Amino acid sequence: METSNSANTTLSQIIPAEVCFSCDVCCRFLEADSPLAPIFTAVETEKVIAAGADPSLFRPQADGRSTQIQLKPYKDFYICPFFDPETSHCTIYPIRPLDCQLYPFALMRSEDGSAVVLGVDTLCPFGEEHLETEAFQRHIRDVINYIESEEVRTQIAANWRIIGDYQDTVRVVHRLRNSNSLIAMLQTN
Ligand code: SF4
Ligand code: SF4
Repeated sequence: METSNSANTTLSQIIPAEVCFSCDVCCRFLEADSPLAPIFTAVETEKVIAAGADPSLFRPQADGRSTQIQLKPYKDFYICPFFDPETSHCTIYPIRPLDCQLYPFALMRSEDGSAVVLGVDTLCPFGEEHLETEAFQRHIRDVINYIESEEVRTQIAANWRIIGDYQDTVRVVHRLRNSNSLIAMLQTN
């Protein structure tokens, strides 16, 4: 799987599509108001609405730009409204948000709250199993370069709600450079 974010920077993917299609972790949530529901940057929100999505599905966030998607009930859990549970496909795949493109990587506050870090969520079975392989370690370096690129950092700064709270299931692989200003924004909100 390979696509690009709103800043037109390519983010490589390492998990084969068929692995994701037969996995039941992504796009499903335990609570209607799960804090893990995907965040869309302002540009991504506009793009998905322009493609026909209902604008009322996008809940404005504290940064004044990004939105979080309203989940919908499905069986005894909740799913992203763009997820097709019959096929396990994302119906907006080419324009899905950076937040989804990144997974199983996650941007979050460090455990002590002093920095923004990038980590790999061990709840992803593929990530957990392959984390120590040479190929995955190489991929980690690619993702770090992508996140640290000026274009992507600008997107993150403007849409800082994409930075989640610390999660102990996420194994930290990188501390973002000069994340003090991001932390300052998170602390005042
Ligand atoms: S948890 Fe990992 S393997 Fe499963 S769908 Fe998500 S990215 Fe794919
Ligand atoms: S936008 Fe697509 S990839 Fe992201 S949670 Fe929704 S269905 Fe899954």
